Amino acid sequence: MSLTDFPEMVRGAVNPARLLDTARRLVEVPSPTGSAGEVSDRLAEILRSDGFPVERHAAGHAAAPAVVARFDTGRPGRALQFDGHLDTVHLPFVPPQVVDGQLTGSGAADMKGGLAAAVEALRAVRDANALRGGSILFVAHDLHEAPWGLGQQLNELITAGIHGDAVLIPEPLCNTLPIAGRGAATWKASFRRTGPPVHEVMRPLDEPSVIAAGAAFIRELATLAERLATKQHPLAGAETVFVGQVHSGEIYNQYPQECWLEGTRRWLPDTDALGVEQQFRDLLENTAQATGTIATVDWRPVRGAFSLDTENELVTCFQHAYRGLSGQALPTGPKPFVDDGNSFWALARVPAITHGPQAGGQHTVHEWVSLADLERVAQLYALVATLYCPATKQPTG
Ligand SMILES: [Zn+2]
Repeated sequence: MSLTDFPEMVRGAVNPARLLDTARRLVEVPSPTGSAGEVSDRLAEILRSDGFPVERHAAGHAAAPAVVARFDTGRPGRALQFDGHLDTVHLPFVPPQVVDGQLTGSGAADMKGGLAAAVEALRAVRDANALRGGSILFVAHDLHEAPWGLGQQLNELITAGIHGDAVLIPEPLCNTLPIAGRGAATWKASFRRTGPPVHEVMRPLDEPSVIAAGAAFIRELATLAERLATKQHPLAGAETVFVGQVHSGEIYNQYPQECWLEGTRRWLPDTDALGVEQQFRDLLENTAQATGTIATVDWRPVRGAFSLDTENELVTCFQHAYRGLSGQALPTGPKPFVDDGNSFWALARVPAITHGPQAGGQHTVHEWVSLADLERVAQLYALVATLYCPATKQPTG
């Protein structure tokens, strides 16, 4: 298939200057996770002044209600969703700047640049009158970046039924089409004894050692990790349990009261996430009983595991549009991180593709995104929408 099979008007309707202006206006409003209210208001204002009806949904986070815009043809057809987060990691704010074909600044890469491209795709589809049926749902939200957020605002939207039939997420990942990814949780476990801190020579001999309990638990986790390593997925890799830090004691000769450990647990698609948590809790409780200590755990699910059916029409339409723009299909691969696509799949079995602009410096103060690639993403999203939404004529690949 050649590019002429695509509505050339749609590509032509993407306006790079308008796209860049939107991206700058989003980057210039600081929005650390939890505090994306002002930038959400800015985005809502941009969309409204473009003529799109905008709804705001608190979805459990009234400080920054999610921005929900719709472009509806009023004719039957599927809804394609463009989804992204407006919050950025908690680092010093860097204002937007355009240098050598790149936009830099806080969130330029992760992911205000990609969101601006999605906004531009929405405008292009509307301006070119390119949607024959169905609708595009645009959603932007806060509470994405861990550990300050755990995706809870988006989860509320999804469980409230505010989602499309398929989703495109313009996170900065562009070299592979991710079709499998692990789910993840963070955990913080603690072993305590009941008595007060005391000089080691004064310690009651029947008081358990919390440090020994922590050590026993680390051994148990190592055994579990060996077992998990055998659960392999050809793309997503292996299941893991990981200990990142251990703390106990104040000084060398005081008998401490608490030992705490913190780490992660990652699991494969089609694994029962509640079963994963229960297995961890059982291991912890057994260790506490064996060592005479009291154990507690703060278990925080980050995102469920991710899987994408390559036979799904979203994938067919995406590859068709991608080939039209880039000359070849995008190779499939793993999703190395968890993102909102995991939530769409885990909570609602909605297929989601993470694909965004060429960018770098995520989670640093040196974020950048390629302006040329923002334009490509806007064109790609607009083309996918025109293919996916009408449901009248399917691409033949
Ligand atoms: Zn992101």
